Amino acid sequence: MELLVDLHVHSHYSRATSRNCTIEGLYFWGKLKGINVIGTGDFTHPEWFQEFRDKLTPVEGGLFELRKEIADEIDRTLPASVRSNLIRFVPSVEIATIYKKGERVRKLHQLIIMPSFEAVSRLNAQLERVGNLKADGRPILGLDSYELLRFALEADKDTLYIPAHIWTPWFGLFGSKSGFDTLTEAYEDLAPEVHAIETGLSSDPAMNWRLKQLDGLAITSNSDAHSPQKLGREATIVNTNLTYVDVIGAIRTNDRRLAGTIEFFPEEGKYHYDGHRACGVKFSPKETKAHDGICPVCHKPLVVGVDYRVDELADRAIEDEKPSKTVEYIVPLTEVVAELHGTKSTSGKAVVAEYDKLIANLGDEFSILRKLPLDTIREYSPQVALAVERIRTDKVHKEAGYDGVYGTIKVFKDAAERAETLNQLSLL
Ligand SMILES: [Zn+2]
Ligand SMILES: [Zn+2]
Repeated sequence: MELLVDLHVHSHYSRATSRNCTIEGLYFWGKLKGINVIGTGDFTHPEWFQEFRDKLTPVEGGLFELRKEIADEIDRTLPASVRSNLIRFVPSVEIATIYKKGERVRKLHQLIIMPSFEAVSRLNAQLERVGNLKADGRPILGLDSYELLRFALEADKDTLYIPAHIWTPWFGLFGSKSGFDTLTEAYEDLAPEVHAIETGLSSDPAMNWRLKQLDGLAITSNSDAHSPQKLGREATIVNTNLTYVDVIGAIRTNDRRLAGTIEFFPEEGKYHYDGHRACGVKFSPKETKAHDGICPVCHKPLVVGVDYRVDELADRAIEDEKPSKTVEYIVPLTEVVAELHGTKSTSGKAVVAEYDKLIANLGDEFSILRKLPLDTIREYSPQVALAVERIRTDKVHKEAGYDGVYGTIKVFKDAAERAETLNQLSLL
């Protein structure tokens, strides 16, 4: 069966996260979104580990489900349209490492996915000796990523280790500021144990397939959600059974069971283009090259984004043949509804009410964005159908993000086009 997987999630014990990042909150939003396998996040944090160990029970095949009495209570608050969606959890964490290698300071983020609470306990015991696991749900350790990978595999050979958002300038494996140029530089003889990477919001599979060194590795996408509403901003699609061995095995082997990914348009990510936020300078890679990488306002080096960096490390052209994986682009449904309402805020009363009605009438968010026939959506809302059609066919308007500023993806070119189009729709 088709399953949607989101392995990069944070709990309320991570910095700058929502109070609703609880197991209950993740379960609730997982059902609204249509995600089937959700990473717990933050398993190195002792209180969070205790919290989810109490609330989750193992199911056959090595994933976990929410205890029935808790699940039943939440299900009663959900619309019937999404109540039967299947949700499983898997222990996961994002760990930040800071270390010196080859005379340079490296800062990397990586995801670790483990099959059992026992494996988590073994790894946590090892990492406790390295640094403080209580300070932050996403711990920062003075540890070489090579050692971290070794510890994780020693704790359990079925661990899945994924360098996270690999193109982010400061914390990505290939980041322009504190990353590496090759996987082998970072992982040496353990490089073959890295079976997957995470695209991050600012890159998509097509960009990653330009690197021969990533051939054979699974390209995964996750949300990096700091609030449960952001679950599934990006996700990985697998076609297999709902067990650890099958889902994580599909990713590890990158075989046909790994169907592909659901992506942000990479322009929407915070580091797609280059620039200086404080100087109001946003450059395409071409413009950056024309300025020798220097900011024309403050005369310091620009923050080089993902698009530039991919081009620097790529050994294939973007037009070259690509692996046969599905890549679907989405815009979060609340953003779509907000734009239709002519507002930027996705948390306004009218927008939230409309979102809830859409889910109650049409089913979970991913079904609406990806699967439902446009005619079915049109019967309920011609406006939403029009927006979904434009997103599915890549007829959207893109403004690239840069230096920590999110880009924007718009269904309508501007307010005038929006008014005119919606007016025509209402006449039909
Ligand atoms: Zn990160
Ligand atoms: Zn500047």
